[in-house]
Amino acid sequence: MPCDKCAEPPVLWVRYSGAHLCRDHFLAFVEKRVREELRREVDLKPGTRIAVGLSGGKDSSSATVLLHEIVSARRDVELLAITVDEGIASYRPKGVEVARALCAKLGIEHRLISYRETVGFEMDAVVALDADAIPCGYCGVFRRQALNRAAREVGADFVATGLNLDDTAQSILMNVARGDVDRLARLGPHETVQPGLVPRLQPLRMIPEKEVYLYAMLRGLPFHDATCPYAERAQRGRFSAILAQLEEVSPGTRHAIVSTYDQLRPMLQEKFAVGAPRTCSRCGEPASDDLCKACELSVRLAKLATA
Ligand code: SF4
Repeated sequence: MPCDKCAEPPVLWVRYSGAHLCRDHFLAFVEKRVREELRREVDLKPGTRIAVGLSGGKDSSSATVLLHEIVSARRDVELLAITVDEGIASYRPKGVEVARALCAKLGIEHRLISYRETVGFEMDAVVALDADAIPCGYCGVFRRQALNRAAREVGADFVATGLNLDDTAQSILMNVARGDVDRLARLGPHETVQPGLVPRLQPLRMIPEKEVYLYAMLRGLPFHDATCPYAERAQRGRFSAILAQLEEVSPGTRHAIVSTYDQLRPMLQEKFAVGAPRTCSRCGEPASDDLCKACELSVRLAKLATA
């Protein structure tokens, strides 16, 4: 069966819509949805500076290239990239290398920030110190803080991430399963600006993970195709498997979860409105308590290190 839009052979059968798309129509299909999503999330005013979180993986590399192409048409909007080095010796250095090379190729500024510099512990040390904990519980908190801090330091108005549709649907389900409605209400993209917190953009949030992968492959984008050695201990993996099963028997489930969430979001945000954040007494970053979550965890690690 040829592409639905021309006579070329298809590269993808889009199960949730039934469409068959050739290479060029598939690339255009992805780009159109990314542009629409970005337009829905933000009105880019002259002088806007966007920092994209670039790990060097397929999602963030695709997001960086796509955003670069979108903002290239605008001389008054600037894009730069931030790479967070978690300190995972067998995994991160290659991603950092890819991120550096991609930024050099695109001619955009690149800032590297590490957990060693923000919280004083690399993830390899965290795993050795707290062997029973789920590493991503530490890493997620440290990454949010590092990305926000670096974005503020480079004067970014927004932080864009490469979060795809699968990640987004997983995050929604995980928060529902945990009953964490506060966090559910706070998931990005962010329309409001909180003091000290750089709002998030998620231009790939309606693009399934497999489509991002195919997009990066078909365009020959450089990316580090590897999995973190600590990923298998992540709770997210269970939700990813459940979602994959649901999508298999009922194509369109991920879209339905995200679009249901988007419809409920204004009500959640009204009912669970967050107050202005406090300032962490230890590091000065935004916090909901006396200490921010990253400092709480690094104090715990310091105790484990001296026990
Ligand atoms: Fe960090 Fe977990 Fe991601 Fe590894 S899988 S980089 S530990 S959040």
